[in-house]
Amino acid sequence: MTDQPALASKLETGVSQLRCIACGAVGEEGAKSVRCAQCGDLLEVLYPGWKTSAGARAAGLDAAGLKKLWLQRRTSWNALDESGVWRFREILPALHDWNYVITLCEGNTPVYQLPSCGRAAGVEQLFAKHQGMNPTGSFKDTGMTVAASFARQGGFRWVACASTGNTSASMAAYAARAGMRSLVLIPQGQITWGKLSQALDYGAVTCQLKTDFDGCMRVLDEVVQRMPVYLLNSVNPYRLEGQKTTAIELLERFDWQPPDHIIVPGGNLGNSSAIGKALLEMKELGLITRLPKLSVIQAEGANALVLDTKVGRGAFLKTEAESRELARTMVDLGNAYGVPTRALLTDMDVPLGRAVGNAVEVAESVDVLAGGGPEDVVELTLALAREMLDASGLDGIDPAVTLTDGSAMDCFRALVAAQGGDLTQPLPIGAQSETVVASHGGTMGDIDAMAVGLAVWRLGAGRSAPGQQVQFGAGLRIHRKPGEPVAAGEPLFTLYTDAPERFEGAVAELDGGWSVGDEPPESRPLIIDRITA
Ligand SMILES: [Zn+2]
Repeated sequence: MTDQPALASKLETGVSQLRCIACGAVGEEGAKSVRCAQCGDLLEVLYPGWKTSAGARAAGLDAAGLKKLWLQRRTSWNALDESGVWRFREILPALHDWNYVITLCEGNTPVYQLPSCGRAAGVEQLFAKHQGMNPTGSFKDTGMTVAASFARQGGFRWVACASTGNTSASMAAYAARAGMRSLVLIPQGQITWGKLSQALDYGAVTCQLKTDFDGCMRVLDEVVQRMPVYLLNSVNPYRLEGQKTTAIELLERFDWQPPDHIIVPGGNLGNSSAIGKALLEMKELGLITRLPKLSVIQAEGANALVLDTKVGRGAFLKTEAESRELARTMVDLGNAYGVPTRALLTDMDVPLGRAVGNAVEVAESVDVLAGGGPEDVVELTLALAREMLDASGLDGIDPAVTLTDGSAMDCFRALVAAQGGDLTQPLPIGAQSETVVASHGGTMGDIDAMAVGLAVWRLGAGRSAPGQQVQFGAGLRIHRKPGEPVAAGEPLFTLYTDAPERFEGAVAELDGGWSVGDEPPESRPLIIDRITA
């Protein structure tokens, strides 16, 4: 930071304090420790000077003046003004000297209007603020610029965090920018390589410890007490201050008219705290007159994972050895991350069920839920459901009963109704059809799942280039499965589409993918193996 001419705004008043969120003890601003000296709990930044609107005015914080000043800065080439965080420095904790600021032009992230998603969600207008468009690719940068600047002001040569992800990448980038060293502690076996390599590129020293994340934090707490190292994990109170600017930028974008609803992903709740704090402070300062509703969405942890790994001509991996290796890798990976994971290795050499495509396949699945449907689909569905129940510790439940007593179908009906769907409406199965009939009698032989897959793709069930429209009606019914008797002239396959010019290509793909002979084909097990931890 060298060129700071136009910064001498009269509004830059350092009125912040650090206060313990538990015991209320007020600490020294810009303190070296990120925890309360009295009780060890977390600290938050307060601005007592704003307590009343008269106080705010005395501190030079006039709402109309601030809005104008922040907008003007968007045309400035000054490094602080170019930052989407420091442009709002009047409502951030002040540094003794703005030259301590470490900035990479963070913030200034775009707000996209999402018309299709809005329609799908049934809201008039939907917008998304893309925090991934920050210098190191995550929202962490907005907080890191503030906290790292305080580390620099405190004279620290080293900063540290426990993280395998975005935090370490962001910390390492800001430290490198200011010539500070950075230390990243990683719990053993829990490494996000893409993110960690980013931190390594910025010169971070990384240590893998034989412990979990909390164990790494305990070690770090001890390190920062004994050595001159500044902690930059999310417990650092200055990070929340920088993250406030997400909400301030958003409100500025909407000309200070709050949206009805702001929805934030949960995570460790740092972002939602920062956005909530910013909204309250903006209201306190008269920048906005009402508070929008703030919702935090937290992903529910998966109790267990059951994978259906396919084998055969219709599968991604053709040989049992390859599919087995994939299943083994995924099961080991899931279990290493603490999610009980298991896989069934199942056959996809011949098509599963009697319907392949879009609407026809949905119709078949609904038949299964209603207690009908092809035997093989029911067998596989129940086997997977039993694995999931077992993995979740729910024994003594027979999923087969839910198919016959109607409760599975009731549950599906409720799900569809909750999303505004109507199950009484017919499914859009293709209006045009063509049937392949048997030229002679015998037994249905082999059916190649790949040939069937290519045929329905030709009918329009899949894309051949990104962005192409998929036909809901495209699909194929199988009237005779391998081993079933066939009489001359009987239908074997019916093809559906809304584009009849597609029949010729589809029938050609199917040709050679099936046969009628004298002997039934060798029968194969549907469930080949079960891979567990
Ligand atoms: Zn305390």
